[in-house]
Amino acid sequence: MAHVALQKLFFFRFGSAVINSLRAHQYSRLLSTTARRGVKLSTQLTVDELATVKINPERLWNTLHETCQWGQGQRWGKGETDVGMSRLALSDADKQVRDWFVETTKGLGCHVSVDEMGNIFAVRPGRKPGPPTYAGSHLDTQAKNKPTGGRYDGILGIHAGIEALKTMNDHDIETEFSTGVINWTNEEGARFPQLMVASGVWAGLIPLERAHSLGEVSGGTATQKSELERIGYHGSVRASHKTNPIGAHFELHIEQGQILESSKARIGVVEGVQAYRWYTITVTGRDCHTGTTDFQSRSDALLTAAKLILHSHNKATELGCLASTGILTLEPGSTNTVPGVVRFSLDMSSKEDQKLRALEDSLKSDFAKIAAGEDIGGVNALGTRGKGCSVEWVTDADSPSVKFHADCIACVEESANNILDARSDDQVLRMTSGAGHDSVNVSIRAPTAM
Ligand SMILES: [Zn+2]
Repeated sequence: MAHVALQKLFFFRFGSAVINSLRAHQYSRLLSTTARRGVKLSTQLTVDELATVKINPERLWNTLHETCQWGQGQRWGKGETDVGMSRLALSDADKQVRDWFVETTKGLGCHVSVDEMGNIFAVRPGRKPGPPTYAGSHLDTQAKNKPTGGRYDGILGIHAGIEALKTMNDHDIETEFSTGVINWTNEEGARFPQLMVASGVWAGLIPLERAHSLGEVSGGTATQKSELERIGYHGSVRASHKTNPIGAHFELHIEQGQILESSKARIGVVEGVQAYRWYTITVTGRDCHTGTTDFQSRSDALLTAAKLILHSHNKATELGCLASTGILTLEPGSTNTVPGVVRFSLDMSSKEDQKLRALEDSLKSDFAKIAAGEDIGGVNALGTRGKGCSVEWVTDADSPSVKFHADCIACVEESANNILDARSDDQVLRMTSGAGHDSVNVSIRAPTAM
């Protein structure tokens, strides 16, 4: 038994999304010393005792919605909580909810520190020194209009961690090593346009200077650094995994998709995150008057772009990937002018890096041919062949697939099964996340799962 490494950590129970007793296998050992009177050591709890340790779902629900008073977005329904969120990173509303986070976690006995990127680390001391096991997510949201920010994305992950701390306090539970909650700055990239930027700095993937100098998208003059300073969250702790290490990182998150619902599963055990690449593609033809230019004489950039987008969908289907266009702009934009320049975004994703590479390779070669008038996959089979267009690719983002830590995945799965054990097995589903999260960056430096 000496090396049995179990640290029962968090005990959550709320509605259908539940995680129970996450264990950081690698980071603790069974301690045989006797606990203080009345205080229970997490590793000495019996299975029966553990079963009685449950979070308070009403408390979690109420606290989460109370804090949504800061950064309210648009009302979308009649219900009390049917109001979206618009809590952009480092805004006044973000400061208010950060102040609440600090005050609340300090009140729970946590030591709270803030790093140079404004990441907040609330640590509930354990018995031994060593990197804490954290629940981490984000309190910032998307903007109110496009795309709409919700009340659970990121926010639930933070509140779940805080509720777990409250539950451990309620039951006088001590842990071998420290536990805690992290609020990562600007996960969304909605105001300062880089996703997961502050966890990226912590992981050593993004230089601090570059993150600090990132300007806001609305055309204002604020940078991430100036806003961190303005709201008082430019901390003194280095934003680095080297000086501020994490023992293990768990992130509870809403799915943001339909896989769980369509497979009738209730909890997803996330094994990793799919790879994605973003491009801006510029199709250049020539503007001309619609009424005076026959089809053979045109270099229609929009017609070509339409064929390329359709082909990206068809090819992605063939290779088992996803391809999507969410932005499209054209010039000059007049009813009786054939557009000469079209730019569109292309977001390609796959569980496997290899498939994504194959998709990119074939699209790069096919797009040039299609734009020149060659028929590939039927997109040029009908209609009139014109004079052709040129195609240029610019890579905007490249994120390889991520595989989470096997021990952490096993913890989440075991916990989920414990909660749902009265039900059938298929209510817990192993899956790959289709969206990026701070856990992607953290997983490079610490055992992680979602
Ligand atoms: Zn999120």
